[in-house]
Amino acid sequence: MSADRDLSVASWLVSAGRDRRPGSPLNVPPIPASNFILGDARAYSRDDGTPGWDALEELVAGLEGGGYAVAFASGMAGIAAIFDQLRAGSIVALPDDCYQGVAGLALGGERQGRWKVRRIGVSDTAGWIAACGEADLIWLESPSNPMLAVADVDVICKAPRKSGAILTVDNTFATPLNQRPLELGADVVVQSATKFIGGHSDLLCGVVTARELGLQHALRHARELHGATPGTLEVFLAVRGARTLALRLERAQYNAGVLAERLSGHPKVRVTRYPGLPSHATNEAARRQLKGFGTIISFDVAGGAAEADAVCSALRLVQHATSLGAVESTIERRAAIPGQEHLPASLLRLSVGIEEVEDLWRDLDQALRSI
Ligand SMILES: *Cc1c(COP(=O)(O)O)cnc(C)c1O
Repeated sequence: MSADRDLSVASWLVSAGRDRRPGSPLNVPPIPASNFILGDARAYSRDDGTPGWDALEELVAGLEGGGYAVAFASGMAGIAAIFDQLRAGSIVALPDDCYQGVAGLALGGERQGRWKVRRIGVSDTAGWIAACGEADLIWLESPSNPMLAVADVDVICKAPRKSGAILTVDNTFATPLNQRPLELGADVVVQSATKFIGGHSDLLCGVVTARELGLQHALRHARELHGATPGTLEVFLAVRGARTLALRLERAQYNAGVLAERLSGHPKVRVTRYPGLPSHATNEAARRQLKGFGTIISFDVAGGAAEADAVCSALRLVQHATSLGAVESTIERRAAIPGQEHLPASLLRLSVGIEEVEDLWRDLDQALRSI
């Protein structure tokens, strides 16, 4: 498989991960194989992968701007493989706002005595620079979930690191189209392919891309021994979804910009967080770091949990569902989720899809006015 890495991102997405030999199907079909006839590179798929995994890995590695990708059963499976690289007694620097699964994994490991966790504010750049000299795993997530704080990723990636430290950026919210941390000096980038890469709420998959081959080998080894292998149908659907990522993101991001602006002026909304809004706390960092401001908005409904729940129930086009990055808009009250009670009670996280923006606005406006 080979596609031209000099292509623009949209063209890369459409053409990467193909078997170009004459007579091959245009896209690598689902290949349900645990084992292969011996004598060539592949013997057993858990160890050696399948052409379907290779297609997704080639596509995402190119998207991240180079590096070596490893596909996993989910974003969390890939994240667990990164944490698995730590020696006993390591120090993990973790944002104070990040994906709750990552926080759960890190804090659970700390309770078991595997490592120590230091929480750092997403925009506390001095804190991150100091942590780079001490921590064995520096974990950035930017924009963060669900407060959408943008870290000074460029500055933090250039700070001197403790020898052997791994600086990881969870790039799921930004996507590689808006931010390429490997080019800034990160060691590893994480995508929950469940979200924007798949884009249709129909699969679980993760892809971790390492800047260096040695780390890729270690991550593959972890995948092999943990059995954290992606599904046959899932990698096929992830590649299929990725073909339209540039188009989907462009439309959803346009919609999100319009909706964020209007929500911030709505009488039933108290606070609107969107990296592109001048009123956003880290808008300046967002303008510097991100090519686009993404498709996620979090806003606090005037009132409390009951009012926010009522908005979710009154919506018709926007789906009351978790997750994000798909063609359909989804909304959820994050403080309702176990472990997320520290968030503002009426905070709704809206993942904006590719519907017609005026239809989305009418739906949001009627739901807000109903409370
Ligand atoms: C969803 C998500 C994950 C976890 O990915 P799964 O595919 O659900 O395991 C990690 N980080 C971020 C930012 C996410 O949104």
